Amino acid sequence: MNALANEIAALIAAEGPISLERYMTLCLQHPRYGYYMIRDPFGAGGDFTTAPEISQMFGELVGLWMTEAFTRAGRPPGARLVELGPGRGTLMSDALRAARVAPEFRSTLEVDLVETSPTLRELQAQTLEGAGVKLNWRTSFAEVPRAPLFIIANEFFDALPARHFVRAGRGWRERLIGASREGKLVFGLAPEGERALRVEAPEGSIIEVNGVAQRLMTEIASRLVADGGALLVIDYGYTETSLGETLQALSRHAPVDPLAAPGEADLTTHVDFAALGRAARAGGAKTLGPVTQGAFLREIGIGRRAETLFRRASEAQRADIVAALRRLIDEGDPREVMGGLFKAMAVTHPQMPDLPGFG
Ligand code: SAH
Repeated sequence: MNALANEIAALIAAEGPISLERYMTLCLQHPRYGYYMIRDPFGAGGDFTTAPEISQMFGELVGLWMTEAFTRAGRPPGARLVELGPGRGTLMSDALRAARVAPEFRSTLEVDLVETSPTLRELQAQTLEGAGVKLNWRTSFAEVPRAPLFIIANEFFDALPARHFVRAGRGWRERLIGASREGKLVFGLAPEGERALRVEAPEGSIIEVNGVAQRLMTEIASRLVADGGALLVIDYGYTETSLGETLQALSRHAPVDPLAAPGEADLTTHVDFAALGRAARAGGAKTLGPVTQGAFLREIGIGRRAETLFRRASEAQRADIVAALRRLIDEGDPREVMGGLFKAMAVTHPQMPDLPGFG
């Protein structure tokens, strides 16, 4: 048992079993032991790799998309570029370089980086040193000042905590995390039923609810409606709300038991794009998509960008460009390629003209 497991077991001994939402929050955000708080999880030596870390093309295309959204929004003065969960800062760095094609966007911009991890904030500062824009770090989206906002969230919503409900008898009970007599963390069920959940399903079925993500989406949508702008969400997830759970713990690119070593593995759930879309529309915003990442990147010109890079590249670099392109857009086996499992969805001010990438 690691230090965080002991702390959680003590918490359970004092207060009783905890929700998955609370468990995920402790695992990911605990100030001393939280997964993101104390490490750089990305890349071959880490636990997982993200699209901007695979190729510069990804961040560049996102930067061009943001530039286009700014133009179609009528070039609102005082616009801010916001990133939720910027990781190593790679996406933002590539996006800002590509946005140089639109000096009226690039030169007046302030950037807000919504990041809780001190370790990653430091890496972001290093990566973005000399980017030539004013950088502001925020602990939550609520701290971003009011202005027309152009927001990117890549692999951010999957890191927000979820709750599970299990069909037991004639109702639903929340799946909780308790501790065995030896202090080992185990899944169990709340003694009381959830009266508000009225879906019929076979015994043992699980419903996964990401209330934190949905509430954040409604908050962002209300801002876009009030002040203008657009949000681009890219993440792994599904397009129809359905039964079943997707909790996964990843360590060194392989799945592990989510209760075995809290804080040492990345803990995520797949994003319910249907629920996020409903939350955004409930906030008064317009939604575009979701479409697959492959379709989105193809439509906004990843093929042309890859060709340009290819022409200028050495033989070895050429192989990398082709491999990266395949990994980003192919819609085959999600253990190897991202194009199908990952989806893109945009949320905009209701009067925003349609934006590229969504057919
Ligand atoms: N977008 C990056 C990193 C994705 S990993 C990329 O594509 O490479 C998730 C990122 O979100 C990390 O930077 C993590 O520290 C941050 N994060 C996770 N939960 C958060 C929260 N609740 N508030 C703010 N940032 C969070």
